[in-house]
Amino acid sequence: MTNKELANLIFPNINKTIDDYRKIYPKRDSNLVVTRFAPSPTGFVHIGNFQAAVTDYILAKNNNGIFYLRNEDTDKEREKENAVEVIMETLKYYGITPDEYEYKGEVVGNYGPYIQSKRKEIYQTFIKHLIEIGRAYPCFCSKETLDEVRHEQEAFKVRTGYYGRYATCRNLSLDEMAERIKKGKDFIVRFKSMGDPEKRFKFDDLVKGKIFMPENDLDDVIMKKDGLPTYHFAHVVDDYLMGTTHVVRGEEWLSSVPRHLEMFNAFGFEPPKYIHTPLIMKKENDKIRKISKRKDPEASMSYYQELGYPTEAVIESLMTIINTNYEQWHTANPDKTFLDFTYDPKKMSSSGGLYDLDKLENISKTVISKMTKEELYKYSYDWACIYSKSLKELIEYNPEYYKNILNIEREQKKPRKDIAKYSDIENNIWYMYDSIYNSKEKTYGYQKITNIEDIKEILNLYIEKYLDLSDKETWFNNIKLLCDELGYASNMKDYKNNPDNYKGNITDISTVLRVSLTSKSMTPDLYEIMRLLGKDRIIKRYNSID
Ligand code: GLU
Repeated sequence: MTNKELANLIFPNINKTIDDYRKIYPKRDSNLVVTRFAPSPTGFVHIGNFQAAVTDYILAKNNNGIFYLRNEDTDKEREKENAVEVIMETLKYYGITPDEYEYKGEVVGNYGPYIQSKRKEIYQTFIKHLIEIGRAYPCFCSKETLDEVRHEQEAFKVRTGYYGRYATCRNLSLDEMAERIKKGKDFIVRFKSMGDPEKRFKFDDLVKGKIFMPENDLDDVIMKKDGLPTYHFAHVVDDYLMGTTHVVRGEEWLSSVPRHLEMFNAFGFEPPKYIHTPLIMKKENDKIRKISKRKDPEASMSYYQELGYPTEAVIESLMTIINTNYEQWHTANPDKTFLDFTYDPKKMSSSGGLYDLDKLENISKTVISKMTKEELYKYSYDWACIYSKSLKELIEYNPEYYKNILNIEREQKKPRKDIAKYSDIENNIWYMYDSIYNSKEKTYGYQKITNIEDIKEILNLYIEKYLDLSDKETWFNNIKLLCDELGYASNMKDYKNNPDNYKGNITDISTVLRVSLTSKSMTPDLYEIMRLLGKDRIIKRYNSID
């Protein structure tokens, strides 16, 4: 039995060669930067994976390159229904649209299929080649045997895994292998490693710099019982055939680099450059720890979508950990977007990026403050249509009125920054809607003037003589007159000089007018609020205070 015969016995129906595939997928232009996002369809886009996708995207865009999406669905047990939709829709939502992808039957790009489970024949061709050149072999060890070996390794405190003297099937003769296959014994295929872990080689990660790593001696599984490859093998074949120049992936894959490089080497392929992204950390009770899928809702990208953070703010907040100089750059270039920034892997923190939700809130407030009322109307309405029936109803009740509310203190040099996410809006503006205002249990937080008779006197006199909304100046002068008539200082300077001459001052009166109208002591511009509410509604509200 020769290697070639064994390969034919295992893959009788594989008739193509790796050269055939090289022709089907010709090498891309040598100057082209090609990146990919390669998530597994687990029903969830982790913030760490999304960080990698943003990095891939910006790296490709900086260089007029290609960013493609590959669906890594070889682990059929972990796969969740709709997971592919979740991934694609998340990318689209953030505007990180791939140049090449496969989605709902549509294939865009010449290097597909972009779904690994559809590439079985390709992987098997490459595995067949490895068997032919003696760099892969079938392994018949049962799960029980492998468990026993692992227990033995643990007991002797040696490295676990299928290597050296533990790699028993490696030493079977080709005839023995063929015999077992003919008898119908279950098998998987393993890579035949040649490395010596006592020897180290130099590896250059674009984030971590030069690292010395031991050579690989693990005989990794490359084809599982179901005929599909493992991640390690699919990575090598796909990133080679699809012409990936930069692999951006989580640093949990760093320790697998020796196996990947050995496989690239066995085929004689040049490996891509690697960017291993650091873990995303969070601060909790003064301790810094990894963001956890299980404990932290913010680990999932759906969290930001559900709360309605603008996509731009979420990307920007991630950019601050993707490159440590991003914030400084953005402060100097406030009108540019993240796509104008040049990503530099050397400026990625190699120890872990600290993701801070307070920072996201701040970034987001700035982003929203710069939107026009039309933009904010559109984005918040789109969001409300999916996530908030009550906000949707408020908006639909009178879209123009809603826009005008959003516009208070917006079109000015320093716009108001009181909305961080679309889910904040209703809580900020509810008092502008009678239906909610009237139905709400309110606590009027009056500050200085708290006696109800004094309050009523102020409101009654205001309604009677001074409620004038014709323009801001007139409106303000009337409040001053109200102060004068009731014995409150209309001028703060006078008040400060002789506080005993007055019952209080114009701020105290304004607070009464504000709180009695909105039940809040902090609101945007009171004149604008009054103008939008209109006289009748103001009078109704003031009359209902008792
Ligand atoms: N499917 C792998 C994962 O989701 C991809 C890692 C990579 O980008 O190569 O972790």
